[in-house]
Amino acid sequence: MTLNKPSVLLTGGAGYIGSHTFVALVEAGYQPVILDDFSNSHPAVLQRLEQLTEQPVICERGNVLDTPWVVEVLQRHRCVAAIHFAGFKAVGESVQKPLMYYQNNVGGLLSLLQAMETTECRSVVFSSSATVYGDPASVPIDEQFPCAPESPYAHTKLMCENILASLRTSDPAWRVGVLRYFNPVGAHPSGLIGEDPSGIPNNLMPYVTQVAVGKRAMVNVFGNDYPTPDGTGVRDYLHVTDLAAGHVAAVSALLAHGKSFTINLGTGEGTSVLEVIQAFERASGRSIPYEFAPRRAGDVAQYFADVSLAGSLLGWRAQCTMDDMCRDSWHWQQRNPEGYRTVTSSPPALQVPVPASSNVSARPAVGM
Ligand code: NAD
Ligand code: UDP
Repeated sequence: MTLNKPSVLLTGGAGYIGSHTFVALVEAGYQPVILDDFSNSHPAVLQRLEQLTEQPVICERGNVLDTPWVVEVLQRHRCVAAIHFAGFKAVGESVQKPLMYYQNNVGGLLSLLQAMETTECRSVVFSSSATVYGDPASVPIDEQFPCAPESPYAHTKLMCENILASLRTSDPAWRVGVLRYFNPVGAHPSGLIGEDPSGIPNNLMPYVTQVAVGKRAMVNVFGNDYPTPDGTGVRDYLHVTDLAAGHVAAVSALLAHGKSFTINLGTGEGTSVLEVIQAFERASGRSIPYEFAPRRAGDVAQYFADVSLAGSLLGWRAQCTMDDMCRDSWHWQQRNPEGYRTVTSSPPALQVPVPASSNVSARPAVGM
């Protein structure tokens, strides 16, 4: 704890959603502590976070699978809760490398929970995904819908949820918040932090932004014969800053009343691929070329959340529109055409690897 601010461990806190949640937690009066091995993030994010929050960033570099070290981290910072973002998230890759996914995603959660048990820190928020619902019988999807995961990635998320449920049953002292995210997109309005996918993006919004900036020629729209109003896939896109606010609400609720929950985080509204492209054209003032391509294997026609439980349990509701999401994605992309690897001569001047005031301690990653 720093100056009596409650410390919250963010495993994977240097990643896309973790970094936005870091900012939201600071603004809400918490002291977030990042634990990350940078396997899918860039250390330059730490300086950006420092710039945004105007305070030193605490970051512990290492692997969440290293349980004794996680115990040390929890103790060193006197964490009262943890948010577990760390994990791998590419559905296609999980089909190719299932063992890697089970080890990192399920093994990572087990390691964290063992360390939390040892240090008697028993409040945890878990990053789950709407993908646990599989192909839903209808929309909107509420939390009582049956889970039917299809990919190894989705299975890891449901396994983690089941582990957390067993733990809660075994010991009511555990306070567990499971958040099933729909489609997080967008970036912080400052343009300092955002999504930084390596290689060719799998997801629609980062792909569209790369087309708008001229990095890719056109968007392939996967399927135009779905039973949706314009034939293209419909999803529930959620601004990442709204998602970050949802985590603050979840941690605060767990610490205040201790009741565990599983909730959807989305806007409750569906947007088609063509509508996303049109909104991005409005936001960027650029034309986004696209062509129709065959359906992508494993995709479902439409997917959006019933978000009433998040409203009644957490008092949380998404605030941003699709136009906000596109504007902020575009701003991030324009300011950082190479993501965190972008070298800028005008502000933000972020070439320095790690600021002297940042508290970054390094530990070699354990074998994966
Ligand atoms: P991300 O890849 O940007 O962030 C994950 C972070 O975890 C990265 O910084 C990575 O370096 C770190 N990490 C991975 N394995 C680690 C390990 N063993 N030890 C320490 N650090 C490790 O991903 P994100 O988009 O921020 O997603 C965060 C979480 O939310 C993930 O668990 C993901 O499955 C889940 N989720 C994401 C989405 C999405 O669309 N982005 C949707 C639903 C659920
Ligand atoms: N999509 C697309 N072209 C792309 C990437 C995605 O048409 O290059 C479509 C995809 O078929 C789906 C929607 O955009 O209907 C959202 O896909 P994304 O991968 O972003 O999210 P998810 O499928 O995980 O919901």
